[in-house]
Amino acid sequence: MEKRVHNFNAGPAALPLPVLEEIRENFLNFQGSGMSITEISHRSPLFEEVINDALGRARRLLQLNDDYHVLFIQGGASLQFCMIPMNLALPGRPVNYINTGVWSIKAIKEAQIQGKDVRIIATSEDKGFSYLPTDYTVDRQASYLHFTSNNTIVGTQWQQFPDEEGVPLISDMSSDFMSRPIDVKPFGLIYAGAQKNLGPAGVAMVIIREDMLERVPDNLPTMLKYTTARDSKSLFNTPPTFAIYVIDLVLTWLEETIGGLEEMERINEEKASLIYEAVDNGEIYQGIAELKSRSMMNVTFRLPDEELEQRFLSEATSNGLHGLKAHRSIGGCRASLYNAVTIDSVRSLVEFMNEFEEKL
Ligand SMILES: *Cc1c(COP(=O)(O)O)cnc(C)c1O
Repeated sequence: MEKRVHNFNAGPAALPLPVLEEIRENFLNFQGSGMSITEISHRSPLFEEVINDALGRARRLLQLNDDYHVLFIQGGASLQFCMIPMNLALPGRPVNYINTGVWSIKAIKEAQIQGKDVRIIATSEDKGFSYLPTDYTVDRQASYLHFTSNNTIVGTQWQQFPDEEGVPLISDMSSDFMSRPIDVKPFGLIYAGAQKNLGPAGVAMVIIREDMLERVPDNLPTMLKYTTARDSKSLFNTPPTFAIYVIDLVLTWLEETIGGLEEMERINEEKASLIYEAVDNGEIYQGIAELKSRSMMNVTFRLPDEELEQRFLSEATSNGLHGLKAHRSIGGCRASLYNAVTIDSVRSLVEFMNEFEEKL
């Protein structure tokens, strides 16, 4: 077998090795059924156990009380951009958004397309989204306040969530979901595409508070209503069964091997500080995000010129360090340090960064 590489991809991204090994181990014969998990009915007791286990683990990890529902919805985080205003904008009331980059902009656009009264109460566009805005006023009348908790592309992350002033918070947590404990109380809805921290692509996890479901208009298409997913326990139609199975394994790993979100956060902080240290101590590396707004999940940095960046990236690849090219919209380098990226991978990257600089 070829050696596995150190995987810093932004998404789809690294999965925990023990999870991949368990998938391989059980792939042809799931739980003694004589069939693969990909061959069994989504209505079978075997699959029901899988989805219920995943939902229970998500509830425990996030310490959700009965006010919250956990749903699996296909269409990734991007479908949530349109479902949120469609389901949760109250008639005659504005919706508030904070614009911190590409993903916020896409969310905003979907609300505008629907003719909602979209108010962008803060933006960090003036400095290429390299920081998180602190100066804004929330409309007390707003249906909700939407923000992106971790900005995957530039590498900024809210350490303290925006002050919502009683308005329900809604957050796209695609790239830092389950990376740290959160207080869900101010949130009406949290959503995350699975392919960064949770599992394979193909599904989003949506956490929604009961009172938000009362807003869902009757005249929406069935598949686009949050109430449909709630009423059917995410089994209105065939869900992405394999993706949900892998998510269950990842959540099991998170709960039982790692030991929960506090421990996960501690590990993630350690990983991020190792790389930021290398960036800050190196002569040739320049962090992109402002210090106070830096992300634990996506570390972005530049080298003095594009030619050197190219060399850095290609030498990194030959050293088994993959996925370090930043998003084309900002250029430079990005190390995505999602939950499944090991300290060992991070140490290898730091060593490479130091050696690359020394050789110059
Ligand atoms: C990756 C990403 C998305 C897009 O997710 P899809 O599942 O591909 O729709 C949205 N928001 C954030 C913050 C992301 O990192």
